[in-house]
Amino acid sequence: MNSGNRVSVKQHNRKVILDLFRKSEILSVSELTEETKISKPTVQKVIDFFEAKGILIHEGKGDSTSDGGKRPNLYKYTPDFGCMISLHVGPDFIYAAIANMKADIIHSHHFDIGKMGIAKVLDELARIVHEFQKHEAIVTAGLVSINVALPGIVDPKKGILVFTPHYANWGNDIRFGDELHKRIDIDVPVYMDCTNRFQAVAEKYKGAAIGCDNFIILDAMGEGVGSGVIVNGTVRHGSQNFSGEVGHMILDPNNGAECICGGKGCFEAMVSLKRIKTLVAEGKQRFPDSLIFSVQNREKEQEQEQEKEYYMLSRIFSAAESGDDLALEIFNDICQWFAVGINNIIMVNDPELVVLQGIFNTGGEFFLNCLRKKINKISFPNINRKVEIALSGFGLERGVLGGACYGKQRFFDDPAVYSD
Ligand SMILES: [Zn+2]
Repeated sequence: MNSGNRVSVKQHNRKVILDLFRKSEILSVSELTEETKISKPTVQKVIDFFEAKGILIHEGKGDSTSDGGKRPNLYKYTPDFGCMISLHVGPDFIYAAIANMKADIIHSHHFDIGKMGIAKVLDELARIVHEFQKHEAIVTAGLVSINVALPGIVDPKKGILVFTPHYANWGNDIRFGDELHKRIDIDVPVYMDCTNRFQAVAEKYKGAAIGCDNFIILDAMGEGVGSGVIVNGTVRHGSQNFSGEVGHMILDPNNGAECICGGKGCFEAMVSLKRIKTLVAEGKQRFPDSLIFSVQNREKEQEQEQEKEYYMLSRIFSAAESGDDLALEIFNDICQWFAVGINNIIMVNDPELVVLQGIFNTGGEFFLNCLRKKINKISFPNINRKVEIALSGFGLERGVLGGACYGKQRFFDDPAVYSD
């Protein structure tokens, strides 16, 4: 065996053992030897290696063996050996978080930024990073990576934000990675991608898609529908990083609503809050007594001014659930367009699971059941398509959470972690 192979076997053993620690709570040398067939002295050396790096810690002693042997030393993985900063640039906000190496969020902050220019947003991100660096967790553990979720089309390999419809005045092909690095001047990797892709990664490691290797997330905001596609466990980007840009898939070219992209009948235009508001306004004459317009509800709406768009939807959903005619009409219309959109996505990608994120999740099981029925009727009604539709349990933190999950994965995929 040449020295190159020896190195790779050593690194391989280290990776196998660390992977087991990352999946388990507490392990002993004997348990690891039994599981991996790697000799006890080698297992102990690997544990010592990661203990010195602060990735594994000694966790007391286990019970003695039945034949009265010595009590074994127990070890466990600790996520506190490093921290990551995740930054999510949304349509009018920045959501920033510090996460540990289990991708658990330990500190976060939401900043309203309105429609800032690109230079100001980059300055603001750098300011947040510098501020977060003073946080106790980062001072103690150090910074491992910065993970940036961006709206629009992103080339993650080149660190370029190709275009974002939410900030059309930013222009095209922004060297986002370089510009941020210049401003933060910290020697850690900066990973960036389209928010929806990170949000898919969040579902894979911490959400509704754990254990699933072929799935899609569909995220719907007040204006904007996007998706993240996971194929064989990895995020799909496509040849030009357009993969997942389903919001502008045309569903109704003839009578559809106008879209911010300049097209007509795009998926996101058909389920936008703007269109729903129009449907509500149009229905008012025909159904003046609809629960949607009840005084009590209007008062509630004022109370919840800040979450108005979420509230308008939950009002429609709950009125529909009570059998209100106008609410049911609008609910069925929206479900139908979602069903058509989701069905098209299923037929192109053939996933095991579709996870819905965003504001429509306020409809809960009622929305989900209606969608399932409609989707089953649209294509191949005679075949039992086994695709599951599920609601995400995440709120707006899903962008930074996904960034943290991605950053963590990149860290453990790096051969340097297993090298001397
Ligand atoms: Zn469009």
